Amino acid sequence: MSKTVIITGASSGIGLAAAEHFLREGVAVFGLDIVEPGNSGINYIHCDVASIEAINDAVSVVQSEVGVIDYAVSNAGVHFSATIEQTSEQDFDRLVDVNFKSSFFFLKAVLPIMKAQGHGKLVMVASDQAFIGKRSSAIYGATKAAIAQLTKSTALDYADHNIQVNAVCPGTVNTPLYQHAIAAYSDRSGIAMEEIEVEEAACQPMNQVGKPEAVADLIYFLTQVDFATGGLYPIDGGYTAR
Ligand code: NAD
Repeated sequence: MSKTVIITGASSGIGLAAAEHFLREGVAVFGLDIVEPGNSGINYIHCDVASIEAINDAVSVVQSEVGVIDYAVSNAGVHFSATIEQTSEQDFDRLVDVNFKSSFFFLKAVLPIMKAQGHGKLVMVASDQAFIGKRSSAIYGATKAAIAQLTKSTALDYADHNIQVNAVCPGTVNTPLYQHAIAAYSDRSGIAMEEIEVEEAACQPMNQVGKPEAVADLIYFLTQVDFATGGLYPIDGGYTAR
């Protein structure tokens, strides 16, 4: 019988690349997003991950359609670049809701199902900012470090239920999120996009920014291996190794 994965934020970037990887492996993919995906192979469910009701409803739909949820990927997120003084309470709330509370809501919806079925593999999408600080990134980075902690504690709490919980920690990856972030920086600084792209690549030990497909490969791998749980896996071209 074919396996099933639920992926949040499956309509773009890393989530879309992950969805396409699972589809190639014959896994049924349910994508929860606020935007419809371009790939018709993804079973799309409109869901704002910042809403616990929306997540509960979406996960219930998947469970009633397929019964078993083998894998779940908590990936939806938004980027925000600002110092503390430049961050309003509304900005803070939006980032925490979409990046962090959503991960808690998603785990809360999926874990009882995995527990009842006796198995499950969960992958959280954190960031290299689970390990390091970056300028103008205090709150975004804090949401990602929080996901890392959520991953480790949840892995321990559910280890004896045959449920594995791991996080991937990508560095700079060329997705629409990255393109928007450098476009905003270009507007603020007056530096041309092309120049920023060259600089970004030069900052990486591997002299390139990552491709979403590479992160997708690691996400898929973490749903296939046994005996790995509570891990934070950098995929950043060596950025955090320095
Ligand atoms: P992206 O913008 O290309 O894709 C994000 C997806 O999440 C989109 O489909 C978007 O519609 C969806 N989304 C946003 N808000 C949502 C909401 N409230 N409810 C449901 N869906 C929502 O971004 P990406 O670069 O692929 O990022 C995916 C994840 O990877 C994010 O959590 C991001 O923080 C993380 N990440 C990205 C990078 C990078 O450099 N691109 C680096 C480290 C971590």
